[in-house]
Amino acid sequence: MSDKFKVLVTRKLPPEAMEMIEKECELRVNPADRAMTKGELEKAIQGVEGLLCLLSDTIDEKLLQINPDLKVIANYAVGYDNIALEACTKRGIPVSNTPGVLTETTADLAWALLMATARRVVEADKFTRAGKYEGWGPMLLRGGDVYGKKLGIIGLGRIGKAVARRAVGGFAMDVFYYSNSREEEFAQEYGLKYLGFKELLETSDFVSLHLPLTSETEKLLGEEEFKLMKDTAYLVNTSRGAIIDERALLQAIREGEIAGAGLDVYEDEPKLTPGLVGEENIVLLPHIGSASIETRTKMATRAAKNLLAGLKGEELPHIVNPEALN
Ligand code: NAP
Repeated sequence: MSDKFKVLVTRKLPPEAMEMIEKECELRVNPADRAMTKGELEKAIQGVEGLLCLLSDTIDEKLLQINPDLKVIANYAVGYDNIALEACTKRGIPVSNTPGVLTETTADLAWALLMATARRVVEADKFTRAGKYEGWGPMLLRGGDVYGKKLGIIGLGRIGKAVARRAVGGFAMDVFYYSNSREEEFAQEYGLKYLGFKELLETSDFVSLHLPLTSETEKLLGEEEFKLMKDTAYLVNTSRGAIIDERALLQAIREGEIAGAGLDVYEDEPKLTPGLVGEENIVLLPHIGSASIETRTKMATRAAKNLLAGLKGEELPHIVNPEALN
């Protein structure tokens, strides 16, 4: 019998990470090029000591009960709202994430969404491909300006700061933020101004979300909040979909309460709220915030390092529940 650690990897990862894990572990990998179903996960988790999972895998109390011998969970994401953290802590299971390596890549995508939404890039591309371009037109596909406008960042953490740096350095924007911590040093260095939540919504031409999904942030933006925003404002969400009430967003856009939205994440992904697809002034991306070749490799090797450390009883480089080890 093999004396290697038994691990489950719920989706094939970049080869560098697979090799790291294979060297030291007996590997069980989801053979399909899609997320595992709940039933598949429940079956595959039996008998493994380590789990490397994706943000789309729900790791709940029931799953933990199926395998009482699980020693470590390494999430292939910086967000970990897919994992029942308290239940893991109670069972002494350390959980890790992949912070930092995806910050700039996700900030780039937030900017791509912001620009695409304001300047109607996706709509314009479809228009051109459809053979509708018959020459320069004074009224053709007019959008919103970005340069020099007011950007409101909600959640001034790693990614929020990276978005702010681009806004100040490249687009001469006035940047406002609302966040748990005041981050005074950073705010002073880049000239950011702290505003209360409502005031930020009322002031900003662009609102970009960079919060984790928690019980406090779920549906933080709904009907009332969209009414506070300017009717010329755009919302960008590269954090987690459930921070927005999607139906209320759709209604706000249809009623002209805000000008448009750029979404990388959805309330109940991969399902989309009916009606979203039909709105030209919403840009829809399939959760690709961190999807650059380099970053996905770094995330995978980081997750692999966390997994191997946990299996060996060593300190996990990026543990999110250190109290699990007490
Ligand atoms: P981070 O460094 O932890 O930043 C999150 C910020 O939000 C922190 O400043 C935190 O403040 C603040 N915050 C938390 N709860 C708050 C609340 N209730 N009210 C106000 N501020 C609050 O995380 P990050 O690395 O920037 O990532 C942010 C999120 O982006 C992740 O959690 C993940 O869900 C999402 N993400 C998405 C993609 C994608 O592919 N679209 C990629 C990467 C990340 P304190 O730390 O002071 O509590």
